[in-house]
Amino acid sequence: MIFRKEITESLTLKFGEAVTERKKRGEDILSLGLGEPDFLTPVELLEALKKVTIDGASSKYSASLGLASLRQKIAVDLKERNGINCTKNNIIITPGTKQALMLSLMALLEPGDEVIVVVPAYVSYVSQVYLAEPDAVIRFVELNKTDYRLDLEEVERTITEHTKAIIINTPHNPTGCMIDERELKRLYEITSNKNIYILSDEIYDKLVFGKITHFSIGSLEDFTSRVITLGGFGKTLAITGWRIGYACIPESLMPKINILQQHINTNTSTIIQMAIDTAWPLPDGHLTGYIQKLKSRVQLYTEFLKNNPILSGSNPSGTFFVFVNIEKLKVDSVTFSSKLVDKTGVATTPGIAFGKQWDDHIRLSLAIETELLIEAFKRVSIFIKEESWK
Ligand code: PMP
Repeated sequence: MIFRKEITESLTLKFGEAVTERKKRGEDILSLGLGEPDFLTPVELLEALKKVTIDGASSKYSASLGLASLRQKIAVDLKERNGINCTKNNIIITPGTKQALMLSLMALLEPGDEVIVVVPAYVSYVSQVYLAEPDAVIRFVELNKTDYRLDLEEVERTITEHTKAIIINTPHNPTGCMIDERELKRLYEITSNKNIYILSDEIYDKLVFGKITHFSIGSLEDFTSRVITLGGFGKTLAITGWRIGYACIPESLMPKINILQQHINTNTSTIIQMAIDTAWPLPDGHLTGYIQKLKSRVQLYTEFLKNNPILSGSNPSGTFFVFVNIEKLKVDSVTFSSKLVDKTGVATTPGIAFGKQWDDHIRLSLAIETELLIEAFKRVSIFIKEESWK
């Protein structure tokens, strides 16, 4: 295959794995790096997993689109929580949300198609577009650097007759910001004439703590026709390693997606699907307490920014990420993150992982015990004051 130079190693995984190695060696590392929640997998889910292991069916293949009963539950959940008018015929269960996006892009893209990617963007979007279609063209729309909002006029200007799709992500990794209902309605409108597909990555839809309520752009359709909603369980049930996610897609795309799934994955791990199906309704009562914790950590972050006026950053409404502007330090994000972890043990993710224009930012994950977060902020503050940044 054509392996375009833009298809690169995932910098978040690279940095994350290096940090995990150092931790294993006993180094004093405080990780604000990877995107995993800092609570344990709910016991009810582990019990369900135990239970299904003795059911012979859990070791067998499942239907390629996924277990019918789980697809049905996901469809009802998307309708009830997010107002998306879908049925189980719109749902495919995939090995992770990442794979839901990949299969969707593969089913959609043809040579010459343009895809609008909003940057900073989740690390896999660019590589996935080019893996799906090496002759696709990506048009980037940069978020505003002061308030991290999406400029819809800029999106409108970027649309051409070749635009096939736009990828959005709300709540957003890496800024924690959200696109509100009014903006999403406008986005739906401006993409309607040209019949542009909207790939809406909503993996963090339950991790919302700000003033903005989560809105699914897919809810604007009477039936799923050009919005593909991508979701998952990893971040809310602390099962990122179980590899399960889903897409809600137009029925017209289902045959193609199913063929791709059959030849690439066969099916998503049956035992994992069965565990989630058995544990349903999802044991996610812990999220209320977790969201309170995230709120208080955001407050600590706000104080941290206040105490370090040389920095600024995003004001998150969801996820566990914040994006910090280090522009005034006049150092690139990889140098900053590398020096920081070497000198203080605090691991962060360089902004360049999320887009070329974002080398003046670093991403912090607040998914770390509050006491450790306080210690990390202390170390970063001292580091910033002591280093010479000329
Ligand atoms: N989309 C976004 C915005 C993410 O942050 C992540 C994981 N970090 C994914 C997709 C991939 O999720 P999964 O692990 O379920 O494949």
